[in-house]
Amino acid sequence: MRYLRNLRPDPTRLIQEKLSVAEELYALWGESFLSDPELPPLLEDYRQAVEASNQVMEEAGTFRECYICSVQDGQGCCKIGLENECTVLILLLNLLLGVKLPQEREVPGRCFFVGPTGCKILARPMLCRDYFCRRHYQKIPEAQMIRVTQVLNEELTLLYRITSLLRARLEFWTGDFLQELDLTGYT
Ligand code: SF4
Ligand code: SF4
Repeated sequence: MRYLRNLRPDPTRLIQEKLSVAEELYALWGESFLSDPELPPLLEDYRQAVEASNQVMEEAGTFRECYICSVQDGQGCCKIGLENECTVLILLLNLLLGVKLPQEREVPGRCFFVGPTGCKILARPMLCRDYFCRRHYQKIPEAQMIRVTQVLNEELTLLYRITSLLRARLEFWTGDFLQELDLTGYT
C-alpha cells in the first residue's frame, strides 16, 4: 500500500497494487464476509440495483450514445488512469460478487477495465455510473435523464453502504484503521 501515497504514481502499477491487496483481503476474509449476517442481503440488493440502473439507462439511450461516442467516433471517456477511481474496497466488492478481475490492461490508452464489449467489472465507482456528458443532455429528453439519476441513487447509496460495512468489518477484525482501502490514490 506504500505506492498509494506516491504523488505521481504510474496508473497501471497503482491499480495492480490495489488488485493484489483486494485479492489478499478476499483470500483472508472472503468466507467471513459471505457468512456475515448483514452483507449477503446487501450484495443481492446491490446486484438488483445495478440491473435496475442498467435497464433505465438502456431505455433512456445513454449506453447507445456512449457506444457511438466510443466505438464509432473513436472517443469515449474510459481513459487510462480512470481505473483508479476504483478503491481497494470496490475491487473487493467485485470479488465478493463473483467477478473475475483482469490482471492486465487489455486496450492500450484505455481504462484497465475496458474490454471488447465495454467495462469488465460489475461494481463501478460513482464517477463511472453517474457521469453524463453534454452529448447525453443534448440528445436525451430531460425527464429521462432525471429518471436515470433517480434510479441510480439506489445503486450508489448501496455502494456507499456496502463499502463502509466492508471497511468497518475489516477494521474490527484486524484492529487497524484502514483509510487507505477507501482512497483512489491518484489525485
Ligand atoms: S459519457 Fe459522453 S464522453 Fe463519455 S463515452 Fe459517453 S458519450 Fe462519450
Ligand atoms: S466504466 Fe469501467 S471501463 Fe469505464 S472508466 Fe469506469 S471502470 Fe473503467
